[in-house]
Amino acid sequence: TNTRRPLVAGNWKMNGDKSLVEKVQSHLAQAELSNMDWVICPPAPYLGLFDAGTKLGVQNVSQFDSGAHTGEVSVSMLKEFGCGYAIVGHSERREDNFESDDVVAQKVAKVLDAGLTPILCVGEPEEVREAGTLFDYIANQLDAVLAEVGIAAFTNIVLAYEPIWAIGTGKTASPEQAQEVHAFIRGHLAKQDSNIAAGTVILYGGSVKGSNAKELFSQADVDGGLIGGASLNPEDFLSICLAA
Ligand code: PEP
Repeated sequence: TNTRRPLVAGNWKMNGDKSLVEKVQSHLAQAELSNMDWVICPPAPYLGLFDAGTKLGVQNVSQFDSGAHTGEVSVSMLKEFGCGYAIVGHSERREDNFESDDVVAQKVAKVLDAGLTPILCVGEPEEVREAGTLFDYIANQLDAVLAEVGIAAFTNIVLAYEPIWAIGTGKTASPEQAQEVHAFIRGHLAKQDSNIAAGTVILYGGSVKGSNAKELFSQADVDGGLIGGASLNPEDFLSICLAA
């Protein structure tokens, strides 16, 4: 038993359209989802289309406040659209947009300063797992953020463990594989503060579907999920929320 409240976050990536906004909202509105939190992270242009009260997040945010940063969106803009969460350091951004651990750490700090909750993604490529250096790799990703914001900030940070080889591949980590890394992450934080570590919500992401969510979420240190592909299917997303 723990006091961590389960969370399911839907990451639409660069998918969806106005009609999906309607469909997802009406589906979730019907459901009894009182013992967990859910949040939708659509592409930024769709944020303003959701009903007030829908919990929203973004997939990325600038590490700067304002100014000459063409193409970027600031935390204050997102706040105006009722955004409570920001995914930071998703592996696709680390890869496509060359986001380093340092940039990721700066973004986490900026999101926290604005009073939003960062959903900080960590996770290894397949070759790192095969080389047996998985835990060092994850520790380095965490340490970059710990160095920037300190352990106390983890009270307000959600973590997501997303093994890169499981993202969008249909190749889910087994519940045991997920649990092993989640326990490592919590243990790593506990070296600095065991109370904070015990309260930190750690999501699993990587090919979660309605059919495998329950088993993954039943693991002791898996507190919910970050959902890509299946978040585009309102029925599937709802069944994942119900499993949390
Ligand atoms: C993700 O992009 O965060 C993700 C987990 O994607 P998928 O569920 O499609 O693997």
